[in-house]
Amino acid sequence: MKGIAINMEENVTIDRALEILSYHPLLTRVESIPLLQAHNRICAEDMISLVDSPPFDNSSVDGWAVISSDNPMDRVEVSSVFAGDNIPLPLTSGQAFRIMTGAPIPENADALVMIEDGINGKARTNFIRFKGENIQRNSIALRKGSILNPSSLALLASVGHSKVPVYVKPKVSIIPTGNELITPGNQLNEGQIYESNSISLSALVDRAGGESIVINSVQDKLHDLREIFDQCSKTSDLIITSGGVSMGDRDFVRKLLIDEGQPLFWKVKMRPGGPPIFGIWKGTPVIGLPGNPVSSHIVFLNLIVPWLSHPDLFYRKIRVLLNSPLKGATNKVVFRRIDIEPRDQLVASTYTHQGSGNIQSMVVHNALSVLPPNTNGEIGDIIDALWLID
Ligand code: AMP
Ligand code: MG
Repeated sequence: MKGIAINMEENVTIDRALEILSYHPLLTRVESIPLLQAHNRICAEDMISLVDSPPFDNSSVDGWAVISSDNPMDRVEVSSVFAGDNIPLPLTSGQAFRIMTGAPIPENADALVMIEDGINGKARTNFIRFKGENIQRNSIALRKGSILNPSSLALLASVGHSKVPVYVKPKVSIIPTGNELITPGNQLNEGQIYESNSISLSALVDRAGGESIVINSVQDKLHDLREIFDQCSKTSDLIITSGGVSMGDRDFVRKLLIDEGQPLFWKVKMRPGGPPIFGIWKGTPVIGLPGNPVSSHIVFLNLIVPWLSHPDLFYRKIRVLLNSPLKGATNKVVFRRIDIEPRDQLVASTYTHQGSGNIQSMVVHNALSVLPPNTNGEIGDIIDALWLID
C-alpha cells in the first residue's frame, strides 16, 4: 500500500461520507437552456421576477366591473372589456363594464359582480387580482437549487423568462466488474450470473440529471481495470463502479484505488452497502459501489443522490408506523426494504427476503427504513423512512 492511503478514512458515517464527497462537487458548470428542455433539471441561480405578477389589476371572473358604493339597482352596462384589451376608460358612477376573466379592471372600478348573480348582484372586492399580488418585479421567484418541475417551469415563464440557467449534466461512466457477469440475452454458463447493476445505475444516473455512459463489464483483473479507469477518467466527470470493493482476494477496484489512486474513504456505516470506496483517479472522482444489486442501489440513493442531484427526485423523508419487525445492526444505519400503505397514518410492512442480492425486494416494496445504529424496529414503533418516488 502506498503512503497516499494514509489519508483514507475507514468506516465513516453517512454524514462524513457526504461531507467528503461534497469537497469534490460535480455540479460546477452552468448552461442556459430553454424552459421547454429544462424539465427535471436543477436551477443554478436565484431567478428574479422580470415583471409584476400579475402585471396589471385584472378580473378573476366573468361578470361586471362596478363601483361598490353605487346602488346595485342603478347599474347600467356601458361597454365590454376582454382579456388582452387595453385598460378601458374610467367608470363613472352608475356605470358597469361587462368584463371577462383576465381582462384589465377599468379605473374607478373597485368591485366585481359575478355573471351568475346578474348585473344587480352583490359587488365583491375579493375577485380583483391586483398588480404584483403574486410576485413583485425584481423579487426572487425561484431559488437556486430548486428542481425544475412543471410548476416551477410555469412560474419562470409567468415572470418573463424564456430560458433558465441549469447545471451542466455531469458525464458519468458506469463500470460493472466481475468475472461472473454475463450480459442478458446470452447463455449463462456454470458460475455465471446476469449483469444487472449497469441497468439500474444507468437509470438512476439519468434520473439524477447525469449523462450515463455504460461500459461493458470488466473482468476482475488489475490490468483491465487500470486501463478502463484511465480511459474513463479522460471522458467523464465521475466514474461509478460496481463490485470488487470488499475484502475478497479479487476485489481489485478497492486494491487499485488504494494502491495507485487517491483513496479518500472506504466503508460506510450502513447496511446494506457497507463497503463503498471513494477516491480520485487521475483527477476524476471514482465511487466504487458494492456488487450486490440492492446494496449498489441503496448506496446510490444515500451517497450519490445528495452529491450529484436532488433528493426530492428520488425520495421523501417521512415517519412510519411499523407493522413488521425490522432487524437493526451494530453501529450501522439499516435500510430495510419496506412497503408503505397510507392509512390513518403511514404504515410500513415487509414482504420478501431482505437479502442484498434480492433486487425483487426493491420492486415489491416502495420505501426504505432508516433504522438508527444499534436499534431493532418493533411492531408499533414509529421510525424514519425514505418513501421512494418511482
Ligand atoms: P462483489 O461486490 O464484487 O463482491 O459482488 C457481490 C455480489 O454481487 C456477488 O454475488 C456478485 O456476483 C454480485 N454482482 C456483482 N456485480 C454485479 C452486477 N453488475 N450485476 C448483478 N450482480 C452483481
Ligand atoms: Mg466481484
